[in-house]
Amino acid sequence: MITEKQAKELRKQIERKPSLAWDVMDKQETDEAFKLAERYKTFLDAKTEREAMSAIVNAVVKSGFKNADDRSEGGKYYKVLRNKAAALAVMGKKPLSEGSRIVAAHIDSPRLDLKQNPLYEEVELAFLKTHYYGGIRKYQWLARPLAMHGKVVKSDGIEFNFIIGESDSDPVFTIADLLPHLAGKVQSDKKLSEAFEGEKLNILVGSLPLGNNKIKDRFKLHVLNYLYEKYGMIEEDFTTAEIELVPAGKARDIGFDKSLVGAYGQDDRICAFTALEALLGTKKPEFTSVALFYDKEEIGSEGNTAAQSRFLEEFVSDLFAKAGSEASERILRKALIASTAISADVNGALDPDFQDVHDKRNAARLGYGVCITKFTGSGGKGGANDANAEYLGLLRRIFNENSIVWQTGELGKVDIGGGGTIAKYLASYGMEIVDCGPAVLSMHSPFEISSKADIYMTFKAYKAFFAAK
Ligand code: MN
Ligand code: MN
Repeated sequence: MITEKQAKELRKQIERKPSLAWDVMDKQETDEAFKLAERYKTFLDAKTEREAMSAIVNAVVKSGFKNADDRSEGGKYYKVLRNKAAALAVMGKKPLSEGSRIVAAHIDSPRLDLKQNPLYEEVELAFLKTHYYGGIRKYQWLARPLAMHGKVVKSDGIEFNFIIGESDSDPVFTIADLLPHLAGKVQSDKKLSEAFEGEKLNILVGSLPLGNNKIKDRFKLHVLNYLYEKYGMIEEDFTTAEIELVPAGKARDIGFDKSLVGAYGQDDRICAFTALEALLGTKKPEFTSVALFYDKEEIGSEGNTAAQSRFLEEFVSDLFAKAGSEASERILRKALIASTAISADVNGALDPDFQDVHDKRNAARLGYGVCITKFTGSGGKGGANDANAEYLGLLRRIFNENSIVWQTGELGKVDIGGGGTIAKYLASYGMEIVDCGPAVLSMHSPFEISSKADIYMTFKAYKAFFAAK
């Protein structure tokens, strides 16, 4: 028979009990976590993939990184792909042929993109038509202030960027929603998936006419005239533009204790930011440290700026050249297969009001540190990256040796949820890879919620991963 005291001892020795990061962090670490969150909130001002790429490159150039496409040398390099994706590296002591340590995040987020012929008027109001990008719950985008972040290429090749709706003196834009008094038949009685139509996500942009009522389409004309006077832009320029509507406003602290961050685009700029911070703090690592910032993850990583492009191969072969040896196809392949990687992406945190969509024993929780997600996919792990036990063992050792609070997670109950990340695309090179990042509440909403303790532990985890032998 085992006594109560012996059972208690035994439990301590062999039972796993996840730790709340706040319980583990001392005063100094807690202060550091709050300081890191301040820098993170500023980073979140970058709301598009282009802006995030610029913020990342500006930060590393300041820190002495050289453009891998130039002749300059220096042991720290960056490379930009079509202004929408970026790669960074700090050269390691070991040769590149022994593999790199890679942390790969994505810098695109769900949003509303303008269509190519967006402008029209209806009942004396001017609107822009959109096509949503990534997985959104459409009703969350109605009746809220939206900002416009755009890139326009004019017919003479001149390009310009603009942001409207982020400064206090700017106007904002919005999508009107139906009043409850009239919503019964057309919204309330329908299934949620049918009540809100993508084609009705039209952005209100004006209501002043140009000239008198003899002039045709004078509300639309007024908007065109404004764009022409302000930017020299004509209607055809919309066809060669990328204009994104995102929630307006800055990242905010949440709660009386300010322990949480609320903001748009934390999936996946929370990992982009922590990967960037971790790499900036990496000096003379054993293996070459690489941070990747991809575009188009939210629409399946397709396209020439996404994880399915061959950007990583291109970057690593640049690094070989910088190290003084051109890599043959065979050497490059071997260097990639020898690499170890983290797919730095978020997981959905256990939702207090919808706990039954999670298996509570396996769901990630806010505040429980960085989350390792062994597998993704859905319905019997279909379409998953499913990480190897050997590799999970390596990460576990690195995290435990560096006092990192970590947990495991999955994306919902079996046969309920699911999803994918870039992990499986990098896995196709044969490298070891697993998803690892913080859990986020209200994921993919215009106001996602993260814990400052988790942001800090994610930063610490990526830093330890880069530094590990
Ligand atoms: Mn993501
Ligand atoms: Mn996502």
